[in-house]
Amino acid sequence: LKIPAAFIKQMTGAPGWREADFCALLESGEQVQSIRMNQRKMSDPDQLNFKERSAVPWASAGFYLPERPKYTLDPLLHAGAYYVQEASSMFLEQAIHQLLSQKNGLRVLDLCAAPGGKSTHLRSLFPDDTVLVSNEVIKSRVTILEENLLKWGNSHQIITNNDPRDFRKADLLFDVIVVDAPCSGSGLFRRDPKAMEEWSEELVELCGQRQKRILADIWPCLKENGWLIYSTCSYSMQEDESIVDWVLSGFEAGTAKLQLDPSWNVIESESPVKKGLGYRLYPDRLMGEGFFLAAFQKGGETEKKQIRKNRVKLEKATKQQIEDIREWVKPGLSGFYMLNDVMVGMGEPVLELLGDLSPLYIRRAGVTLGKWAGKQLLPDHALALSQDLSAAISRIELQDTTALQYLRKEEIHLDSAKPGWNLVTYKGLGLGWMKVLPNRSNNYYPKEWRILMQSGR
Ligand code: SAM
Repeated sequence: LKIPAAFIKQMTGAPGWREADFCALLESGEQVQSIRMNQRKMSDPDQLNFKERSAVPWASAGFYLPERPKYTLDPLLHAGAYYVQEASSMFLEQAIHQLLSQKNGLRVLDLCAAPGGKSTHLRSLFPDDTVLVSNEVIKSRVTILEENLLKWGNSHQIITNNDPRDFRKADLLFDVIVVDAPCSGSGLFRRDPKAMEEWSEELVELCGQRQKRILADIWPCLKENGWLIYSTCSYSMQEDESIVDWVLSGFEAGTAKLQLDPSWNVIESESPVKKGLGYRLYPDRLMGEGFFLAAFQKGGETEKKQIRKNRVKLEKATKQQIEDIREWVKPGLSGFYMLNDVMVGMGEPVLELLGDLSPLYIRRAGVTLGKWAGKQLLPDHALALSQDLSAAISRIELQDTTALQYLRKEEIHLDSAKPGWNLVTYKGLGLGWMKVLPNRSNNYYPKEWRILMQSGR
């Protein structure tokens, strides 16, 4: 596959661009593998099934792996112990840590969130009293976002399915907005050669227009002094520095200067007109794909929004329902509500923010706990993966082979297990539910999530 000539031509003069090194790297076929660990589920990286690994220097839970494992056949992936993420994207952590000295009690929006790489990362970077809203406009992509966030297991979040402009209708402002914009994808040329076939100058132009539209739509939802972090996986200045210029020309804003460790080889760039700062990551300079990030702080006064009265209305769970659920959840979870006959649990900050989101299409809020069939509680799969699940729940620990059988939704024969609902675990982490009956057990792993890949490790 050939790097498009028009791309090379367009890149001439771009900050940090080294044509010969870049082309040689792509030709070498060298690839980089990386994951980001879920430290709330797994504190010791030695518990991972990857013995050889090295740290991603700009991300506290990021690790490089020497080669691509069969991730699908690792039960820990399905337990949400880690997320497979390209290392350069993890640079977002530097912006969050360096720009926000105070991370408590915030409202964070990840506007272009599917499949959830930045959202799972953001969720790990903030304490639980900060609420994360993960939004994805394309309906078919919300499913994978939901799956990845459920596996990550944090309940202090809301998943929405809206166009960026819809957020203007909501009565709320965010402290931090992340716009990981849809782009022409040149940053993925090395990993995904198809991106080279699809690349064109017209695509870059189109993406630039769309990026401006998204930013203009969401800018009014940012608090005064709040941060909007913009990123792309494109090398094109039209989608990077030119966008920085466009924001600085149109809005009252300034860009952030981040401290860079020289050994990272991240390039600081200046936008041509307004001299706004941005950060470029190139695969021929560091271990990661192409990535660009700039952070804007909002100046000036934010237009005060009209307070709406029609807040999202939630039905409170009954006393009996709350009593039934108590033994299943940790004490920290305070609010129990019914949404279409399903019980959800959430803390006060999520509940508050949910009310303000009323004009939006809300896919999930907090953690889905379960529903009742007559008097019987059927625990939800989300609860099995949740960090709010009670430690007292009966568990069945599975080893590699049986864990994979479980994840394939096969029947599992157990010699001894407590009758009733059991949490199936692997290395102590929840994978899903199993109901043990007198002479068999029912595998409750969600059909649509079951793994189809055969062959052992
Ligand atoms: N942040 C994600 C992550 O880290 O896993 C990747 C996001 S991807 C680069 C961009 C996302 O923007 C896609 O999920 C895409 O569906 C969505 N998107 C496409 N058009 C959009 C639009 N007009 N407004 C907002 N989002 C859009």
